[in-house]
Amino acid sequence: MHQTFTVTDIRTENYRTKTFIFDKPLPGAQPGQYVMAWLPDVGEKPFSIAGADPLALMVVAVGPFSGALHRLNVGDRVWVRGPLGRGFALRGRHHLLVGGGYGVAPLLFLARTGLAAGHSVDVCIGARTAEDVLLAGAFEKEAVSDQRSALSPFIVVRVTTDDGSMGEKGLVTQAVEAAIAAHRPDCVYACGPVPMLTALARLCQEHGLPHQFSWEAHLRCGLGICGSCELDAQTRQAANLPAGWLVCKDGPVHGVEG
Ligand SMILES: Cc1cc2nc3c(=O)[nH]c(=O)nc-3n(C[C@H](O)[C@H](O)[C@H](O)COP(=O)(O)OP(=O)(O)OC[C@H]3O[C@@H](n4cnc5c(N)ncnc54)[C@H](O)[C@@H]3O)c2cc1C
Repeated sequence: MHQTFTVTDIRTENYRTKTFIFDKPLPGAQPGQYVMAWLPDVGEKPFSIAGADPLALMVVAVGPFSGALHRLNVGDRVWVRGPLGRGFALRGRHHLLVGGGYGVAPLLFLARTGLAAGHSVDVCIGARTAEDVLLAGAFEKEAVSDQRSALSPFIVVRVTTDDGSMGEKGLVTQAVEAAIAAHRPDCVYACGPVPMLTALARLCQEHGLPHQFSWEAHLRCGLGICGSCELDAQTRQAANLPAGWLVCKDGPVHGVEG
């Protein structure tokens, strides 16, 4: 069942990324869940919920559907199904959030949820170049204290880029190692490309850390019917997922005990 949402604001995040803010909340939405966004005569695609009150979606323009969303103006409408799928469930009081590329889309919503509960949050963001880094400033704005105290929530943001044009040069897993060494998290939450997630899964296993990762696949129905979003056997093995696990209804988030 689709609901109609009207665009009320559009924020440019980088050269190919915009955040669309809509006119009303999406009741019941949890960080890590997604919606199916439909545009007449264009199609329907999944997008992580970047904010629930009001609904916000962060869209990278890479092809026909995302390009059509980028051409929307304030006042235009989008038809939305959701919230869909299983999201993140905060575990403990110190959270390490890891985003690669546009995988940061659901993590600001998750960080805000943790901070509102009085928890502390470390964030590691990985991207190819400074131009591709998303939301680093928005996470930093969430900082409420620079004092690490059990009573005051805080946020620490670490950025890595492949070419060193922003933050530390290298892979986001380096920043994750540093974050774990500085303050061991109760749980690691991540969203990003499959190679990043499989490397992180190994790292979390080595450290005995519980983790919840959001997996991506070619997702069509959003209902667990068409089966197009089953991960390939190699990824399932790396992620410790059974055959038949569907991103759209069993995920996108999958949690593993430490
Ligand atoms: C659970 C889930 C959540 C998602 N959340 C988001 C989100 O929050 N924001 C978002 O922008 N997209 C998100 N996506 C991807 C989105 O659904 C579309 O796949 C994407 O917008 C491309 O669709 P398209 O029709 O524009 O291009 P397509 O023709 O489908 O893709 C064009 C090419 O770009 C590649 N591609 C797809 N997405 C990206 C990307 N982000 N960066 C680089 N290359 C890419 C494709 O593999 C393909 O080669 C999500 C997907 C899933 C399954």
